[in-house]
Amino acid sequence: MDLVIPKTGGRVAAEQLADLAAASRILAAQGVVDGFGHVSMRHPQAPNRYLMARSIAPALVTPGDIIEYDLDSNAVDANGRSSFLERFIHGEIYKARPDVLAVVHSHSPSVIPFGLVGVPMRAMFHNAGFIAEGVPVFDIREKFGMTDMLVGNGEKGVALAQVMGRKDIVLMRAHGSVACGATLQSAVFRAVYTEVNARIQHWTNALAGGGPIAAVEPEEGKLSDVVNRTAGMRAWDLWRSQVRSQVNW
Ligand SMILES: [Zn+2]
Repeated sequence: MDLVIPKTGGRVAAEQLADLAAASRILAAQGVVDGFGHVSMRHPQAPNRYLMARSIAPALVTPGDIIEYDLDSNAVDANGRSSFLERFIHGEIYKARPDVLAVVHSHSPSVIPFGLVGVPMRAMFHNAGFIAEGVPVFDIREKFGMTDMLVGNGEKGVALAQVMGRKDIVLMRAHGSVACGATLQSAVFRAVYTEVNARIQHWTNALAGGGPIAAVEPEEGKLSDVVNRTAGMRAWDLWRSQVRSQVNW
């Protein structure tokens, strides 16, 4: 079999590569990713390419670790660097959803229980407003039977993207979750507040003792999300400055 290396979508500004590396460190600092998990962004000039770090712990990513991929998740410029096994999550979501420009995959712990039991995740506060529309759960067993649980090829990525549909979030049974956005900053914001929302929902469920929970309504969620996509940049500016002081870029 010939090894086909796709063409590059073109040079990416150093500042954008630095922001993507920073996003990775921010997600680690916020407890969304640990040794595992990854964030990607669509190539700014080439919608059929995306950018993601080589296979490395998120808190260690630098701009030099970032690899370009086509949407089948073939590396354009690996140069001997190894790729994340689950990069197909990103490639297949970019293929299915032209509106998505950034994707975060994590195993953030407070979220996982909602993929294990029949209790749906609901938006507990405005920062997680995008959750109010509902959160689908991808169960890899349904199509693939017994697996290592990883979305390690295109077929599994397609199945995950299908379950996500038009939502910007999907839970993965006994694995983790994916949050998406129309900007890198928005995807990071949503991944952070998905984890925070899950924690709040655990507390709320305990406090409610089976009684009703006055969660964010879908319409309230839509209205909140509009604000989050602009005012939420304040959080990004804070987080970005925190990781800038850790490293010299
Ligand atoms: Zn994973």
